[in-house]
Amino acid sequence: MRKKIVAGNWKMNGLKTESESLINEIISHKTDNGVIKIICPPYIYLEQIKHQTKHLTNFFIGAQNCSHQAKGAFTGEISAAMIHSIGCEYVIIGHSERRTLFNESNQLIAQKINLALTENLNVIFCYGETLAEREKNTEKITVETQIREGLQNIEPAKYKNIILAYEPVWAIGTGLTATPHQAQEMHQFSRSIISKIADESIAQETSILYGGSCNAANAKELFMCPDVDGGLIGGASLKSLDFCTIINSF
Ligand code: PEP
Repeated sequence: MRKKIVAGNWKMNGLKTESESLINEIISHKTDNGVIKIICPPYIYLEQIKHQTKHLTNFFIGAQNCSHQAKGAFTGEISAAMIHSIGCEYVIIGHSERRTLFNESNQLIAQKINLALTENLNVIFCYGETLAEREKNTEKITVETQIREGLQNIEPAKYKNIILAYEPVWAIGTGLTATPHQAQEMHQFSRSIISKIADESIAQETSILYGGSCNAANAKELFMCPDVDGGLIGGASLKSLDFCTIINSF
């Protein structure tokens, strides 16, 4: 049985007190349907959010990024080992904003994934095509390349620590959402790639999240798709009621 997961990516939003209040509001809503919840705040709030949520079941924290280097003279960087050392369980790697705004390549992303897994973090691995690629009907080529190159050198035993997140770039923060049909098609396709590069049983066990303007109104129909195992939520994760409604959409 694949895990059902809803992760919130707060991106670079919220001051300290706002983050404390947001997590308290999220905790105050009833979300006990067995869905795994992962909150990914800015690095500097990770410990605080961990402290506020440590008594909860099915509730984890994640970083939004990590360095591709293990340690050393890399001013401003945060290593996977540091993230793990404060009790954080997850890290998002390969988000389209990092690929686009920070020029992260599939090779760099593969390095980060390997380091994160070595440091016992679970990885939320993001990939997805741009609007131009979809308009040229090359979305599957992009997605296959990103998955194959991002997950190069991953031993089969490590897949249990990897969550995939299909995030079409044209849907992120735009209010445009993939239709359930588009989401299902790309999730099924992603699973078929995992089956080829690992094996079918690993592919069947791997959770694949959808991300891209998923909200309280559309989550239910997206989550009804057989290969959609949850969501990676940006904007709507900053509103406690919307985020919890998404969690309760299963
Ligand atoms: C994201 O940034 O991962 C995301 C899915 O954002 P949004 O939900 O705002 O489209």
